[in-house]
Amino acid sequence: MSKKILSRRRTGAKDEVLAQTFSDTSQVPRGIDIFYRCLQCGGTIPSGPTDSIGCNCGNIFIDTDYMRLVVREFSKFQLVKRLPV
Ligand SMILES: [Zn+2]
Repeated sequence: MSKKILSRRRTGAKDEVLAQTFSDTSQVPRGIDIFYRCLQCGGTIPSGPTDSIGCNCGNIFIDTDYMRLVVREFSKFQLVKRLPV
């Protein structure tokens, strides 16, 4: 009997809010442990996805074809760092 856990549940992980005020997407850092959270729909997406991804309400979108980050409402945008459990 082998259980392969592909994606660990992160319910116990701590998030550290890094910064919240940006006015331009070029200011927004990205990294393996950096995530973008939408305060409008509550969605969290990785800053370096392998495929284009966006949050449910479309406020935050990453286009991997152009390595472009699109944020409609910066006031609803939060940068978080996932801390190891
Ligand atoms: Zn959203």
